[in-house]
Amino acid sequence: MIDVVGVWKSYRSGSRMVDALRGVDCHVDRGRFAFIVGPSGSGKSTLLYMLGALDRPTSGKIVVDGQDLTTMSESSQNAYRREQIGFIFQSFNLISNLSALENVLVPFLPRGVTPEQRDRAADLLTRTGLGMRLDHRPYQLSGGEQQRVAIARALVKDPILVLADEPTGELDSKAGDEIYRILRSMQETSKTTLVVVTHDRRFITPDDLVLEIQDGRLVGQPGPAEGGGDG
Ligand code: ADP
Ligand code: ADP
Repeated sequence: MIDVVGVWKSYRSGSRMVDALRGVDCHVDRGRFAFIVGPSGSGKSTLLYMLGALDRPTSGKIVVDGQDLTTMSESSQNAYRREQIGFIFQSFNLISNLSALENVLVPFLPRGVTPEQRDRAADLLTRTGLGMRLDHRPYQLSGGEQQRVAIARALVKDPILVLADEPTGELDSKAGDEIYRILRSMQETSKTTLVVVTHDRRFITPDDLVLEIQDGRLVGQPGPAEGGGDG
């Protein structure tokens, strides 16, 4: 499903280069619940962004569901993000003047919402426990409830891959537990592949794939033989 091969990512930071990823290789099977863990600044978000085609590696290759993200055109990358990937962010990113239901329908708004899509959105919200809150605005919802709306929004397109960046980072531990319970149950039903960045390991279960990253390298992989890109 996901193949990451020899991926390097360097950022220019003033006059020096920062190697955020230094030769990452990994594979994630379809339908897995995968975690990217590691200390702050180790490259977790960078790897997640690459999987979402929000940015390109400096060198190496990323193939998702047979599509090479690294050679894809800009417009194909946009279509990939829009149609195939569900994103969940730490800060929910809901639109404040839209209802919960309308927020879930946001991915469909550009082309107009069909009754089937509306039903699907309402069904997803109901499955997160928000069936009685469809018309609530984000400010009328708790943080945990807002994140549940964001989960429904991420799943409404039936994405091949859901990417979550610290989805419980702004929630208390009870709400965090609830979010993982929902993520797991929704993933079981939808059979989607889920990759979650977190520095909180207490949500990891023995069945999950754990990609542990340190200084831009996956733990357990050999160190870099030479610099990536132009070194
Ligand atoms: P998080 O780890 O919560 O996802 P960010 O991805 O925003 O937070 O940032 C992670 C790290 O990357 C931080 O140390 C931040 O300073 C650094 N960073 C993010 N964007 C830039 C940038 N444009 N220039 C320099 N450093 C950045
Ligand atoms: P994590 O998500 O594990 O906190 P990041 O992937 O955000 O780590 O960052 C990895 C490294 O890359 C950090 O040293 C960070 O400062 C740097 N970095 C991230 N994004 C940028 C950016 N846009 N420009 C410059 N440096 C960045």
